[in-house]
Amino acid sequence: MPGIAVLPGDGIGVEIVPQAIKALQTVGERFDHEFEFTEALIGGAAVDAVGVPLPVETLDLCRRSDAILLGAIGGPKWDQLPVALRPEAAALLPLRKELGLFANLRPAVLIPELIQASSLKPEIIKGVDLLVIRELTGGLYFGEKKRDKLEHGERAVDVLEYSTAEVERVARLAFATARKRRRKVTSVDKANVLESSRLWREVVSELGQEYPDVILDHMYVDNCAMQLIRNPGQFDVIVTENMFGDILTDEASMLIGSLGMLASASLGGQVGLYEPSHGSAPDIAGQGKANPLAAILSGAMMLRYSFNLEEEAVVVETAVRQVLAAGYRTPDIMEPNRTLVSTEEMGDLVARKIEEVGV
Ligand code: NAD
Repeated sequence: MPGIAVLPGDGIGVEIVPQAIKALQTVGERFDHEFEFTEALIGGAAVDAVGVPLPVETLDLCRRSDAILLGAIGGPKWDQLPVALRPEAAALLPLRKELGLFANLRPAVLIPELIQASSLKPEIIKGVDLLVIRELTGGLYFGEKKRDKLEHGERAVDVLEYSTAEVERVARLAFATARKRRRKVTSVDKANVLESSRLWREVVSELGQEYPDVILDHMYVDNCAMQLIRNPGQFDVIVTENMFGDILTDEASMLIGSLGMLASASLGGQVGLYEPSHGSAPDIAGQGKANPLAAILSGAMMLRYSFNLEEEAVVVETAVRQVLAAGYRTPDIMEPNRTLVSTEEMGDLVARKIEEVGV
């Protein structure tokens, strides 16, 4: 029986994760799979309960599980804590590192029913279907950090480093994934100014020769940021380093309407981690306003990547589309003449659809 570690975390995490579980349970009932869900503490909730944001028990549970479903962590209540206790720095980053999750996959697929919710013109985003693969355990976020006192003020340093092996493994995943899609990889860097980017480009180019059936092009990150809103249809798979990927994926999410729609999978180690791309949204937490679809679609990615259940994943994705087509919306994607629903109501609607959509 596949074991799923459930880490709701903070803010809207505790509201959206139950909706994703409901979807997975409904898939289990319909297709005769039994998933075992075990909940554990992470983030600010863990700091409040046991004094640390990533308790050893949570890490052990994750290691023992077949997949992890995470909500979101952090919030203003814990922002003033020392870095060693701050939820994102001291829970999310070490969790990824400990589990060897070196690649974060974030699809941005336009759901036609949401074409009006995007801030871009319909003719620009029509048909967008891209996947950003972000390197997740290297680069600036993991490099050495320090501060020195100066005569006037201080100097702060963040080191950006990449090794050949780190670039190669994430690039390999990008080429392999592109083979299952439209066979195009865009590698994004800043090779005109950064040495780490020059190595990145060399390694990706060399590896590309092993994949002659995949078209490879390179793009500077500033140009990519511009191309994403100018002509997003040109992209299939984008592969990029940690910080560039962090920024570009938030931008890509806006193409498709809302952060609340953007799912993600972190892969590379023994166990995959699935979480919505957004944070804990303290501004709307506890009000039933959060969009649970990114969490539910992350569950679909879990079915696909961790359990190899493609048909079941497609059923969840189809159910989400059909609920949107029927006019139901959470506040973040609300439009005139649609039916406004709460987080839980949206979760119920998707679960009910999962029971009946055709395969
Ligand atoms: P955020 O993603 O939480 O929110 C940004 C905006 O998007 C807010 O207006 C929010 O209401 C909205 N939004 C996000 N998810 C939504 C959803 N599902 N439905 C409807 N609206 C949604 O980013 P932020 O405000 O910069 O960060 C808030 C906290 O989350 C911070 O403490 C930050 O450190 C943390 N954070 C955590 C993660 C994570 O757990 N992976 C990621 C990013 C930020």
